[in-house]
Amino acid sequence: MTSLQQSGTNAMDQIERGLRRELAAAYRLVALLGWDDHVATHLSARLQDGSFLIVPFGLMFAEVTAGNLLRVAMDGTVISPVEGPLNAAGFNIHAGLYEARADAASIMHLHTHDGVAVSALKDGLLPLSQTSMLVLPDVAYHSFEGIADRVQERESLARDIGDKNLLILRNHGTLAMGATIADAFYRLYTLEWSCITQMRALAGGRELQMPDPAAAASVGNALDWTHPDRFSVRAFWPAMLRKAERACPDFDDLSN
Ligand SMILES: [Zn+2]
Repeated sequence: MTSLQQSGTNAMDQIERGLRRELAAAYRLVALLGWDDHVATHLSARLQDGSFLIVPFGLMFAEVTAGNLLRVAMDGTVISPVEGPLNAAGFNIHAGLYEARADAASIMHLHTHDGVAVSALKDGLLPLSQTSMLVLPDVAYHSFEGIADRVQERESLARDIGDKNLLILRNHGTLAMGATIADAFYRLYTLEWSCITQMRALAGGRELQMPDPAAAASVGNALDWTHPDRFSVRAFWPAMLRKAERACPDFDDLSN
């Protein structure tokens, strides 16, 4: 039995504190980048007992701290703080995907202007930049079914993402998952960057230069996501944590 499982519901052990700190930083970084949508959208991280951390409904991303994140059981019970307002669609998307993907320890969903714009294009994400080529092989699509608060939609979400890690929710937004917060955030960042570039290129109104397909495909295969010293964990996420520490050091506050 792990120390986390022994900790019970009231004690907060080192693993939970670490995840709260990293997830709060992720919320703040999304706000710093201007990628949040008022009190909508959500980022989560799963603990070893299957419960997960998520923003309480009503807080803006810039207001999230390590201490005010909700810890929610897979049946929707809020474990800590003792009760809290939960976003129904947020809970449904995250719980459904955690249920389907044992390898996922973090899920992040956004409604950025460029992410939603790409989700509304028939072509979806195009290999217009090296950055988009990096994520393209890992991108899946999910058709719009209405507000995603129905349990039935969990099935189509899981089927559509399959074994990929990025999901473009048609006419809605973007979603990334990973085995760590670092992996999920790196994927989300790369996808969002790609969407911004694509919409700017399309807005230019000139003929687009498409890359050689073989050269484009080679880029996506360059990352080894199973390597313990992979880029997302070794360099990307520590740099983003330093950015959060400089810009909004109160993200770390564990009181709620
Ligand atoms: Zn949404």
